[in-house]
Amino acid sequence: MRDFDIIVVGAGPSGLAFARALEGSGLRIALIERQAAEVLADPPVDGREIALTHRSVDMLDRLGAWSSIPPDQVFALRSARVYNGRSALALGFDPDGGPEDHLGCLVSNHLIRQSLFAAIEGQGGVTLLAGTGVEHVHADRAGARVFLADGRTVTAKLIVAADSRFSVIREQLGIGAEINRLGRSMLVVRVAHDRPNHGIATEWFDYRQTIAMLPLGEHRSSAVLTLSSAAMEPIAAYPPEVLAAEIEERFDGRLGPMRCVSAPHVYPLATTYARHFVSDSAALIGDAAVGMHPVTAHGFNLGLQSAETLSGLLRSAAEKRRSIASPLLLRRYEARHRLATRPLYSGTNLLVRLYTAEDRRARIARHAALGAAAHILPVNTVINRMLQRH
Ligand SMILES: Cc1cc2nc3c(=O)[nH]c(=O)nc-3n(C[C@H](O)[C@H](O)[C@H](O)COP(=O)(O)OP(=O)(O)OC[C@H]3O[C@@H](n4cnc5c(N)ncnc54)[C@H](O)[C@@H]3O)c2cc1C
Repeated sequence: MRDFDIIVVGAGPSGLAFARALEGSGLRIALIERQAAEVLADPPVDGREIALTHRSVDMLDRLGAWSSIPPDQVFALRSARVYNGRSALALGFDPDGGPEDHLGCLVSNHLIRQSLFAAIEGQGGVTLLAGTGVEHVHADRAGARVFLADGRTVTAKLIVAADSRFSVIREQLGIGAEINRLGRSMLVVRVAHDRPNHGIATEWFDYRQTIAMLPLGEHRSSAVLTLSSAAMEPIAAYPPEVLAAEIEERFDGRLGPMRCVSAPHVYPLATTYARHFVSDSAALIGDAAVGMHPVTAHGFNLGLQSAETLSGLLRSAAEKRRSIASPLLLRRYEARHRLATRPLYSGTNLLVRLYTAEDRRARIARHAALGAAAHILPVNTVINRMLQRH
């Protein structure tokens, strides 16, 4: 007899959403997280403002995690504009004429984590083993065995790794991954500004920098600055007023005078894509499966989708009293999630390469590509649909 049906490693937003999606399935789940339960209940601000699609909001709602996010902390994303250098041409993304009058909304990552954790607390069938990391795992056709840092060992029919894009569990399962360390870092900081943003997100690819402004109310934005990691280091250490002036200047004063209203957070950028999403008695979800570049804001949206896809298959197998770790079920999950993510992952990386290459030829090519895309309606429409469906 195994201790649990499923062991989930990582109570980040994907692991929490996955465990929550199995509510009422009758499956016995262990959720193992290195951070302490008190930290999970009240996660620190990490500067990430997550752009959620309508589909993700619906799912958070079904998981019982949407209603506990304060409405005044949910910011509508009316549309988005992508600019290339000094060119006046912009790629525009607007709602596609459906029932919603906005593209999606922005919510701070720590609030998503907090509300998912609150939703899962007390959920029947879930055992939280917090404050201890996983040291080692072994999985084969017979099931999974997990060795915890505190010396305990737990077993299950299936292990689900949700332990971030640098997943150690993935490695220990023998699953390789494409890992691209980009040598660039992303700084995020909340700024207040004099001019209104009209709920429009702006992404500006300029020489040696990318700067985005995500609207958090008319006169507040999350400034997202991407530079080489070497160039970022001194900037990240600036005092708030110097940092605000730097961002204002780098954004060409488009939103008027600025001041920082939060501490900055810096993320070194790396994209990852696991070569397989499953192996014997094991599956990867969230960033452990697909670590997207944040520029197209898909990471957690796809993480939620992985949780939804896998939990749906497991729930249905449990209802029919079939094996929850059968190779067929796991392969089905892998096929579905690959189909949902590979085009977006490759497309995003291509976009990043196109827009961040600095040589003259690349700059001319990107100008031409942006010009073409801005004028060819189907291109815009396809990207729009892609953005809004996921
Ligand atoms: C600046 C920035 C902006 C972003 N913006 C967006 C956006 O707009 N839209 C969007 O959809 N996504 C966005 N993302 C991506 C999003 O934040 C991630 O996709 C999401 O956090 C992934 O969640 P996860 O649960 O898979 O992994 P993580 O959030 O990395 O959580 C992993 C968890 O596993 C735990 N863990 C790790 N190893 C172990 C171990 N050995 N034992 C036990 N526990 C372990 C960790 O403590 C952690 O709690 C952004 C990311 C960044 C950096």
